[in-house]
Amino acid sequence: MKVAVFSTKVYDRQFLSTVNSPTQHELVFFEPRLNRDTAILAAGFPAVCVFVHDQVDAPTLKLLASRGTRLVVLRCAGFNNVDLQAAADLGITVVRVPAYSPYGVAEHAVGLILSLNRKIHRAYNRVREGNFSLDGLLGFNLHERTVGIVGTGKIGLILGQIMKGFGCNLLAYDVYRNPELEALGGKYVELPELFANSDIISLHCPLTPETHHLINAEAIEQIKPGVMLINTSRGALIDTQAVIEGLKSGKIGYLGVDVYEQESELFFEDLSGEIIQDDIFQRLTTFPNVLITGHQAFFTAEALHNIAETTFANIADVENGRPCANEIRAQPSA
Ligand code: NAD
Repeated sequence: MKVAVFSTKVYDRQFLSTVNSPTQHELVFFEPRLNRDTAILAAGFPAVCVFVHDQVDAPTLKLLASRGTRLVVLRCAGFNNVDLQAAADLGITVVRVPAYSPYGVAEHAVGLILSLNRKIHRAYNRVREGNFSLDGLLGFNLHERTVGIVGTGKIGLILGQIMKGFGCNLLAYDVYRNPELEALGGKYVELPELFANSDIISLHCPLTPETHHLINAEAIEQIKPGVMLINTSRGALIDTQAVIEGLKSGKIGYLGVDVYEQESELFFEDLSGEIIQDDIFQRLTTFPNVLITGHQAFFTAEALHNIAETTFANIADVENGRPCANEIRAQPSA
């Protein structure tokens, strides 16, 4: 199939081209993101392949459909950037990669936890400058601390398994219970109880209207003072302004994020010579107890390989008229 592949970097091209070689789809790589302005690039392509920051909204889908596109292939799990109802109305099939590196993302969350706790990000700079003072680097043992996991699907469960290995107690909140987490000794509680009793809170649920700003001023009121908050899921799970207030007051003791609500303006680009206009983001970077990575939790060789494999398997299913297990559809309205 002829596929217009948007938002591609060198590493995407490398993995997609290598995995495509036996399947021989006709891939045309575009660096820009897909949106209303760039949809014209996909004219005549039956399929477009997109990632987390492409804007697959109704106007973009209409433009795509009018020029022959019938398939949107997501190279990611989250699909909050796709208007599924508009796609269904236009007869466009949407497929995704539901899991490509749950271990990679969970391990990155643990990396943020350990770095923040033991101040490794600060120690790295100090030692390079010949400052071997330990002042300000005091950490705490993870052993017997309580980790609250919000969203106990693939990534949340693996985080639970790893943290159990550190000797942590596990609290969990999800709309569905995961028996594997319960088998680890994880206890499902309502959110206020999780907020009140967790030393570390890690977010692993999808971004939906229900989870938007799950961590807001009201939630921060309920958390244990000095909590460590980790978000490797989606930026808008957190009300960043409220979290900044929480950091200023000391209610939030540590913040580790791989995602940010307005990240599409920043992440995946080298802006090192430019003036960042986002004052909220810039304020976040001034806190010594905040560690930000630019949506790299998924970024392992295994994940890029899995993304490419599942992407081509999805395309093959649709091309050959087979049911595709990774198709996503709009939820029928209640
Ligand atoms: P998953 O579907 O396996 O698990 C998500 C869990 O969240 C499910 O158990 C679901 O029941 C639960 N959930 C849904 N609505 C909820 C709600 N309102 N409150 C609490 N829990 C709720 O997904 P996953 O593979 O574990 O991925 C989790 C999230 O991680 C994805 O949605 C995605 O946004 C994010 N992600 C980030 C990266 C990265 O690089 N930073 C990479 C992959 C995925």
